[in-house]
Amino acid sequence: MSIARKILLVVLDGVSDRPINGKTPLLMAKKPNLDSMASLGINGIMDPIAPGIRPGSDVAHLALLGYDPYKVYTGRGPIEAAGVGIHLKKGDVAFRCNFATRKDGIVIDRRAERISDTTELSKAIQEGVKLDTEFIFKRSTGHRAAMALRGDGLSSHVTASDPKHEGEPVRRVDALGPEAERTANLLNEFIEQAEKVLEDHPINIERKRSGKLPANTILIRGAGTVQKTETFSEKYGLKGAVIAATGLIIGIGKMYGLDYIETKGATGSVDSDVSAKVKNAINALNDHDFVLLNIKGADESGHDGLIEKKTQFIGKVDKALEPITCLKDTLVVVTADHSTPIAVRNHSADPVPVMIKGPGIRVDDVRTYDEISAATGGLNRIRSMDLMPILMDLIDHTKKFGE
Ligand SMILES: [Zn+2]
Repeated sequence: MSIARKILLVVLDGVSDRPINGKTPLLMAKKPNLDSMASLGINGIMDPIAPGIRPGSDVAHLALLGYDPYKVYTGRGPIEAAGVGIHLKKGDVAFRCNFATRKDGIVIDRRAERISDTTELSKAIQEGVKLDTEFIFKRSTGHRAAMALRGDGLSSHVTASDPKHEGEPVRRVDALGPEAERTANLLNEFIEQAEKVLEDHPINIERKRSGKLPANTILIRGAGTVQKTETFSEKYGLKGAVIAATGLIIGIGKMYGLDYIETKGATGSVDSDVSAKVKNAINALNDHDFVLLNIKGADESGHDGLIEKKTQFIGKVDKALEPITCLKDTLVVVTADHSTPIAVRNHSADPVPVMIKGPGIRVDDVRTYDEISAATGGLNRIRSMDLMPILMDLIDHTKKFGE
């Protein structure tokens, strides 16, 4: 068959790097499967957003899915809210929240001693707090939660109540302009009422009795207004799925209508079961046209500055990727959302390698999968936003421009 029908987009989060003594982790790692796919594919380098722009994982993934982050990204709140399963509507203002511990007005633990289950507390807040507008509050994992305000006259131009550091007072939410005054008032009212609900809740009474810190306040940050954007299937006419272990990527997927397929035993860390995720992705291709598989560990080692660990993780990923080397009539793309160089211990703007393998590909002379070789390949230098249009054309899913 000469035209691929399906797309597997493998994102090795933060995998690309800058050389240390002439070598990057990708250049050092043993990775026969990635190298063989590179030699059977077309390669290039890709600017996550644009040259010199250092991206977060969130905007980098939006661009990979072909959404212009400058148009659709308004903050982390909507992504977190979508991730916990809040069905957002255009105009909602959404936030990330933490259950935290407050004593005499001071935040003494931003995670309420890493409280693990807030199901009952979240329910009590949803039922007990009465606001002058509709709101949806939902727990996430651990101490995390998300909230959306819904109604007229809302704005995301508000400050956070989260002081970001322990030992500081809970901040009042302030409006950053007159249009946001109502929202700021609603949030301050929400916090005040939520604290009352939490203070006397049996779970907190029990926590105090057993010497644990109560989860007695909610910290709010990351305000963002929900935009009306096309879902992935509206935009491309494809049925998509996301396989990831981090809430952020899952949230982005859900926000655009990708089916989230959970992988048991796969966490965000280098210790996660990468093979299980890869198998899951291959299975998902049976009933999806597009699968985004995010593999997180390399980013983590980059942030920690651990070159050995990052290199070893690439070897582990390479083994796990073996089953995808024999996929038929599927475009396999292996790339990264951004670079997380060991020397920087954070994301950088360096372009990432990108490789596309499958039927109809103009195979180039690149023989190994790394930052340096990729730059000599047939894709040259593109931007993440270009990737989906290129893939759509390769699967013959684009309309002709002109006659
Ligand atoms: Zn990332």
